[in-house]
Amino acid sequence: MNVFLLDRKEIKEDVKRMEYFLTICGVLNEYLSDEILPNAVELLGIYGRMCINSFNILNGEMQAIGTGIYLAPSVIDHSCSPNAVATFDGFKLRIRVTQDLPKLDWSFIYISYIDLMNSKNHRKKELKERYYFDCNCPRCGSDEIDCYHYAARCPSCRNPITVRRGDKFPPCSCGSRLDSSFSKQFWSAADFSEQQLLLMQDTNYLDVCKLCLTKQEDLFHDLCLIRSKVLDAAFDSAVQLQLWESAIQYGLPLIHAYKLWYGNEHPLTAILLLKIFKIMLLVSPNDDSAALKYYQEAAKIIELTHGKGSMFYQQDVKSLIRDVK
Ligand SMILES: [Zn+2]
Ligand SMILES: [Zn+2]
Repeated sequence: MNVFLLDRKEIKEDVKRMEYFLTICGVLNEYLSDEILPNAVELLGIYGRMCINSFNILNGEMQAIGTGIYLAPSVIDHSCSPNAVATFDGFKLRIRVTQDLPKLDWSFIYISYIDLMNSKNHRKKELKERYYFDCNCPRCGSDEIDCYHYAARCPSCRNPITVRRGDKFPPCSCGSRLDSSFSKQFWSAADFSEQQLLLMQDTNYLDVCKLCLTKQEDLFHDLCLIRSKVLDAAFDSAVQLQLWESAIQYGLPLIHAYKLWYGNEHPLTAILLLKIFKIMLLVSPNDDSAALKYYQEAAKIIELTHGKGSMFYQQDVKSLIRDVK
């Protein structure tokens, strides 16, 4: 006999989901007549598909503009190092492969269901809670990218040193050893930054980001996950405040971080490059030579992720370069 054991947290999550479902049923009952309202079992089926198969509908700049249920792409498995991306052309969802495949076989095509700029534990937890599976993708099985979760910057060679909570700081491959005061300052800055990132979930505050970055200075490698997240928040709020020089200061190191966490051929990496291109033109309108290389890199990725025929490429990306010329 199979006995399924759910821990208390899992039961709590299921109860929460069921409560939410009952609330939706209540609202539907109020607004729809009995004739058109599916019965409770059918409704539960629809709700289940909503939980598992809903995609955020994104505009060209990868901002969510709605939610839709797309059943066909749900045959595509998840990987934290995907070889395909889901992009939208209006409401049409397109799955585009970003790496060469020997032949078209859907069982070897993977997209990511979640935000990839997160630690292994965070990703695994989110996938388990939202999609009910344990991720065993190559990225979750290796430390190649996740070694940057906590990465100090060696004061001698400036290379990253992977550090883990509760462990002693290992020596750098160059031979340098970091003393206990470095380690104490590192964890204090890490705790502070993680706390602030949690508080800033919905709104990024530039002064808070600046404070985090100052505390991290000379201690954190730029690719360290926490620093990447703070740089991302700082870039975002500098753009909101139209502080273009600051946006470039935070945006440039962020390019490397995006390439690490999201991948070279990811729509978000392309959008970041496009934003930097636009900002550079605002800062130095008479010299577009530095900006152009970011545009070219972005356009190449968008050709792959959205396609040359997509509305976004034709209307938004190509028009930018016409404006420059
Ligand atoms: Zn994974
Ligand atoms: Zn070193």
